[in-house]
Amino acid sequence: MIFYSTNNKSTIVTLRDAVLAGMAPDGGLLMPDSIPAMPVDFIEKTGSMSFQEVAFKVARSWLSDDLPIDAIHEIIDTAFDFDVPVIQLDEHTAVLELFHGPTLAFKDFAARFMARLLSCFTADSEKELNILVATSGDTGSAVAQGFLDVPGIRVFILYPGGKISAIQEKQLTTMGHNITALEIAGTFDDCQKLVKLAFSDRDIKNRIRITSANSINIARLIPQSFYYFYAYGKVRKKGLPVVFSVPSGNFGNLTAGLIAQRMGLPIARFIAATNINDSVPRYLNSGTYDPLPMRKTISNAMDVGNPSNFTRMLDLYDSSAEIMKKDIWGIDFSDGQTRAGIQDAYTRYTYIMDPHGAIGYLGLQTYQANYDNEIHGVFLETAHPAKFLDVVQPLIDKPIIIPDRLKACLEKEKQSIPLNNNFDEFKQFLLEKT
Ligand SMILES: *Cc1c(COP(=O)(O)O)cnc(C)c1O
Repeated sequence: MIFYSTNNKSTIVTLRDAVLAGMAPDGGLLMPDSIPAMPVDFIEKTGSMSFQEVAFKVARSWLSDDLPIDAIHEIIDTAFDFDVPVIQLDEHTAVLELFHGPTLAFKDFAARFMARLLSCFTADSEKELNILVATSGDTGSAVAQGFLDVPGIRVFILYPGGKISAIQEKQLTTMGHNITALEIAGTFDDCQKLVKLAFSDRDIKNRIRITSANSINIARLIPQSFYYFYAYGKVRKKGLPVVFSVPSGNFGNLTAGLIAQRMGLPIARFIAATNINDSVPRYLNSGTYDPLPMRKTISNAMDVGNPSNFTRMLDLYDSSAEIMKKDIWGIDFSDGQTRAGIQDAYTRYTYIMDPHGAIGYLGLQTYQANYDNEIHGVFLETAHPAKFLDVVQPLIDKPIIIPDRLKACLEKEKQSIPLNNNFDEFKQFLLEKT
């Protein structure tokens, strides 16, 4: 499997280099040179397969040139040792629950897969590998969990101080061992920028080995395509068109869905549902991409002003808003609407959502009400509601149960290193600590 750069199609890298470097040598994002097609009879049978079986078959089509089959089995079986329920709320609405991993958010899928894939590629190397990851809330802990105590690997998590939930902060500052949390005085976009600058800095590149675990790494997109195949199999029974509503921030999750579609999965439409950070829905409506600075919301893991995967979306659609619009419909929601959505799903279905999933839910409902109800709609629930207890509990008259794995980390003490959002300071820190 080879990958090209979104900056220049003639810049080609191998899977190993794509995973290790995180991005193309010319600073572009990597895209698969040819997207593997899944056979029609596989797609028809996914409904009777386990998530792990579906994931293995899709993973094999990406990895079998580069890794032995046993290694692919090992990655899938150890990375996805949790449930992936698809729950039918009514005839036309299902929810794909992606929060049953160790950190209670869907980022576990990508992070656990990527950690194992990286370990396969670095097993024989002497020099320590440093993973830099900017997080808007959930990525950091998922990545850190994935790499916890993996020999030869250190993880630096950059998070925007004061801009993530108390629970998210606990999750990513209490791991210790080979994980270091950096509390950046700035926004998520600042954190993302520091990571990007580190990759283009010659001193850093010459002295230490670094890679990125953000959604710009193609190894994060591959595993996120698995659950689209799985959920499609579960809901397609009556043959209605299948529509996925994806609560989006950096658009890694939605881009993975687009890739699943290009692999042959007949997804009729995607709903790009965002909070008021609505650069992509505005693009879909106006045809002009005009990203605005990030604004803070209660669905904070989606507070992204300039989504990093948008470049990949443009690449998939030859930069044509007209063509992209045929596959993707965009809509944004305020915090007030999000809260009302949480109450609405609770009243209607006694289903408790987190603020991110709520935006997926609202996107689907709005689409069904305005365009087409003769569909199988699936919205992605990307985090456990207990992660956002402060927001969700006041809206629901039933106590939200906190899973044990979350309780355990809440009892530990926060450990983080405060840094300014200034690149020189970050660079100096990195070169001293590694
Ligand atoms: C990261 C995240 C999102 C957004 O996913 P993208 O792939 O960045 O679009 C949505 N919900 C939750 C809970 C997240 O952590």
